[in-house]
Amino acid sequence: MGDPAGSRTQISRVPERGVTDRSAIEAVLDEGLIAHVGLVAGEGEAAHPVVIPMLYARQDDQLLLHGSPASRLLRTAKSGVEVCVTVTLLDGLVLARSAMHHSMNYRSVVVFGTATEVTDWDEKVSALDQLTDHVIPGRMAALRPHTDKEVRGTTVLSLPLGECSMKARTGPPVDDAEDMYADVWAGVLPLVVAACAPEPDSLMDPRDVPEQVAAWSRGAV
Ligand SMILES: Cc1cc2nc3c(=O)[nH]c(=O)nc-3n(C[C@H](O)[C@H](O)[C@H](O)COP(=O)(O)OP(=O)(O)OC[C@H]3O[C@@H](n4cnc5c(N)ncnc54)[C@H](O)[C@@H]3O)c2cc1C
Repeated sequence: MGDPAGSRTQISRVPERGVTDRSAIEAVLDEGLIAHVGLVAGEGEAAHPVVIPMLYARQDDQLLLHGSPASRLLRTAKSGVEVCVTVTLLDGLVLARSAMHHSMNYRSVVVFGTATEVTDWDEKVSALDQLTDHVIPGRMAALRPHTDKEVRGTTVLSLPLGECSMKARTGPPVDDAEDMYADVWAGVLPLVVAACAPEPDSLMDPRDVPEQVAAWSRGAV
């Protein structure tokens, strides 16, 4: 179906929070870890919307998804139904002087489109590498290559990043003038994704944590 007029990605509520800069959209997708993938599953009276959390990665202008060939979500998505994918980064809690003006600082991206299966062997291997390196940059270089069985036993889908939107809120609370001197704390509580101390597997030397693990960070940590 698609939406050549772009009306599906037109932000109507608080449009000033819309971000059209392509590099900002890609930065959100590169920082995020979880995509929520929505589609209508089932047919006829059994048809129903479903939204499933998944790992993803961006490769150029494509969003990659992967999983078991038995996955209902992937089987449905590759059949040509439209999907809607969202990625959300939570940057802070915005504490205002009234409950009404509490908010969140965030960056989020919504992508519409139709996914296709990646069947070319080299492209599929490259996509699987990218899915791993998206989570832990540099990880693939430390791992053995995927076996043929692993590649054959995984479905990889590619969704073009052609139809997408981004919305972001930044900055302090916006309070009503009559509340500005209320006796209550107001401001922003910034939030980040941060790693705790690595927990080595029992066969590992605890002193031997590779840089890609020890130095893992996401976003502005
Ligand atoms: C952070 C995260 C990352 C993930 N990454 C991947 C990935 O990269 N690839 C992948 O294939 N799977 C991933 N999963 C698992 C994924 O969410 C699904 O459980 C899985 O893909 C099976 O999907 P399905 O549609 O075949 O499930 P089905 O079992 O067919 O779904 C049937 C019903 O089970 C319930 N259900 C399914 N999954 C979930 C869930 N996660 N939470 C709550 N209820 C659920 C829903 O009610 C759904 O309608 C991830 C999950 C999480 C939380």
